Amino acid sequence: MMGEDAKKFRMYVNGEWVESESGRRFSVTSPATGEKLGTFPKASREDVKAAVDAALDAQSTIADMPIAEREKLAVRIAEEIGNGVKGYARDLSLEHGKPIGEAIGEVHDVGPNILWQLEDLKRLDAPALEGYSTPDSWYITRWEPLGTIGVITPWNFPWLLPGEFVVQAMLAGNSVVWKPASYTPVSAAHLMECIHRAGVPPGVINMVTGGGSEAGTAIVEHPMIDGIGFTGETSTGEEISRRAGLKKLTLELGGLGPLIVMPDANPRRAAEDIAFGCFTNTGHCCVANERVLVHEDIHDAVLGPLMDETKKFRLGHPLDEETTLGPINNEPTAEKMEENIQDALDKGAKLLYGGKRVEGFPTKLYYEPALVDGVTEDMLFNERETFAPVAPIFRFSDLEEAIRIANGPRYGLSMAIHTNDLKTALEAARRLKSGQVTINEPVYSWDYHHPWGGFRKSGIGRIGARWSLTAFMEIKTVMINIGRSGR
Ligand code: NDP
Repeated sequence: MMGEDAKKFRMYVNGEWVESESGRRFSVTSPATGEKLGTFPKASREDVKAAVDAALDAQSTIADMPIAEREKLAVRIAEEIGNGVKGYARDLSLEHGKPIGEAIGEVHDVGPNILWQLEDLKRLDAPALEGYSTPDSWYITRWEPLGTIGVITPWNFPWLLPGEFVVQAMLAGNSVVWKPASYTPVSAAHLMECIHRAGVPPGVINMVTGGGSEAGTAIVEHPMIDGIGFTGETSTGEEISRRAGLKKLTLELGGLGPLIVMPDANPRRAAEDIAFGCFTNTGHCCVANERVLVHEDIHDAVLGPLMDETKKFRLGHPLDEETTLGPINNEPTAEKMEENIQDALDKGAKLLYGGKRVEGFPTKLYYEPALVDGVTEDMLFNERETFAPVAPIFRFSDLEEAIRIANGPRYGLSMAIHTNDLKTALEAARRLKSGQVTINEPVYSWDYHHPWGGFRKSGIGRIGARWSLTAFMEIKTVMINIGRSGR
């Protein structure tokens, strides 16, 4: 696939590895080592058009393919991924910065996820109904593919997130044009290789690389694209929804996940879950614990263990097996972390630990995890995702106030409450405006067996289990008049 120069990657259109029509390229640099990992074609509107044309030609190939044949493709893709986990994870660590253990887990999970949804496809049913006013009318409903899907994915989980959309859209009977994030296209190229080697017919899944504003916009605006599966920032999702017209949208957007600690919670358990939610994957998670809401009566009891848990995170080279915190992936995210911390300090918060770049590493992207106390609703921490390793701690005095703060910024992807009181937990579960509420668990909790998606600014639609298929399908009603009584 990579030709003479091992680091010169290509796009994948109509079953072939291709250049962009202009020959323009962009490069990818490792946040861990600073080395150039490779260059990729920069797709233009013309390149996107060629990919969409290939997908349109191939759409009936996949739509008409029996589920039993689609199953073989899914199984082979999962096998291809499974056979290469170690190598793919190494490249993922280098291009993303995540510790190798997390990278192995991420790549490993993609195959089982696809196979789970394959089982959902095999059991996807739709109701048959008798007419309400005329028993001679029978209604059969059927799930049908949308047609051709544009998939656009971010950099924070370069395997897991495409692994929720790209193959699932195909399993649902669609052809696909996929644009991965420009910070992490090496992992995308590996996943595309697995799909290629599994024997997916030409044109059914295509991958273009290049900038969001050019290649991404061209996919979103293309009149023959029927649906968009997008994961990324809320602001990008808003722009996509403005440009997409009446395409069916599945938008998995940002979160500002609060974890609420009630006075009767176990402080050590809460501290463990907070640290896990704030620092895993260097905080680069839609389900990161972006806000820590601690009742004033338990504040000090939580802070001690939280400090211990924070200090346990070992910053280092992501390929070192001892490392549990890698570098931040990119400079704009590092700067956002600095701005959010500085804004909080300017408004009276206190930096209790970390939050600074650490010298002596190959790049400037290595940060100590940060604990910031005394955070209030007027600060940037309460307005936009930090998406970096920081725990911003708010205080509250009763459940009412905690729920108001949690729901305030109108993001609603995953929210958590720690309490030993069932009534309090269930009241919070009902009143938190969020696609997921976890009880005595981290905010960062995700599983492909259940519906996943956001309320309000966190998105439109659901993926996970059968929802990853129906997101890319329409339900059609077929009415039959069995003709016993005429009209
Ligand atoms: P972005 O929105 O910046 O980018 C996501 C993708 O969209 C990239 O491929 C990007 O291309 C592309 N893109 C950028 N601008 C446009 C545009 N105008 N039209 C079409 N495509 C465009 O997100 P990040 O990559 O920074 O990802 C992090 C975000 O993703 C966070 O907000 C996080 O919360 C969210 N997320 C949500 C999840 C969920 O399940 N709800 C899961 C994981 C992450 P390029 O890379 O070339 O800029």
